[in-house]
Amino acid sequence: IAALSIRNLEKVYGSGHRALKGISLEVQPGDFYAVLGPNGAGKSTTIGIISSLVRKTAGTVEIFGKDIDKDFSEAKQFLGIVPQEFNFSMFEKVEDILLQQAGYYGLARQDAKGRVEKYLKALGLWDKRRSPARTLSGGMKRRLMIARALIHDPKLLILDEPTAGVDIELRRSMWDFLRDINEQGTTIILTTHYLEEAESLCRNVAIIDNGEIVQNTSIKKLLQQL
Ligand code: ADP
Ligand code: ADP
Repeated sequence: IAALSIRNLEKVYGSGHRALKGISLEVQPGDFYAVLGPNGAGKSTTIGIISSLVRKTAGTVEIFGKDIDKDFSEAKQFLGIVPQEFNFSMFEKVEDILLQQAGYYGLARQDAKGRVEKYLKALGLWDKRRSPARTLSGGMKRRLMIARALIHDPKLLILDEPTAGVDIELRRSMWDFLRDINEQGTTIILTTHYLEEAESLCRNVAIIDNGEIVQNTSIKKLLQQL
C-alpha cells in the first residue's frame, strides 16, 4: 500500500486557469521523493489539495490507503504538511504554537510536552520556546513550521519548497535533519525548483510542468540523462 496515491487529479481555479491537468503519482513507504518543477507548474496546488486547503476539481488522493475525502480523520493523522508561507500566529509563543497543534491531533498534555521538547531540541529551537514567534529569524520560523508538522509523528511528511530563501548553512542542517527523519522511517515528499536539492536528498522524482507530470523516475536515471 502506497504512502501517497494520487489519481487523475485536476484543478481548475475559479479564474478558469487549469492548474492541474490530470496528474497521477504513487510514492512508496520510506521513500524520499521530490516533485521538481518551475514556478507555476502546479506544485503548491497539488500540496494544497492533499492538505484539504484547496478544493480539487476531479481525481482522488489516498494517504496510506485512506481517501482524503472519505476517511478524512485517518488520513489527517498520517499526514504532516509544511506549507511555504508562515501560517502561525506571530504573537504566540513557540511552545504554545506546538502545544496547540498537539491538541488539534488529540494528544494528551504530558505526551505533547515531551514531543515539543524533542522536536524543539532536534531543530535547535529549545532556547526560543518562550519567545513569541515574531521574534524568530526567517530560518527559525521555517524550522518551527517543520516541528509543528511533525508533532503528531506523521508517517508522511510533505514540504513545499522547505529551503526557499534559506541560507546555505541552514539549508545543509535542514537537509541533515530531514535525512535523519527519513532514515527513522518517515516517508518524505518535497517540492523544489532546485535540482541540486532533489539530487542531494531524494531517491525518486516526478517532474511537473504546466500542470502535467512529464517524467517520473529515479534521481540516478534523471542525472544520467542530463
Ligand atoms: P477556488 O476555485 O479553489 O475557490 P479561486 O479561483 O476562487 O479558488 O481563488 C482563490 C483565491 O486565490 C482568490 O482570492 C484569488 O484572487 C486568488 N488568486 C487568483 N489568481 C491567483 C494566482 N495566479 N496565484 C495565487 N492566487 C491567486
Ligand atoms: P507552483 O507551486 O509549482 O509554483 P502553483 O500550484 O502555485 O505552482 O500554481 C499553478 C498555476 O495555478 C499557476 O499558473 C498559478 O498562477 C495558478 N494559481 C495558483 N493559485 C491560484 C488561485 N488561487 N487562483 C487562480 N490561479 C491560481
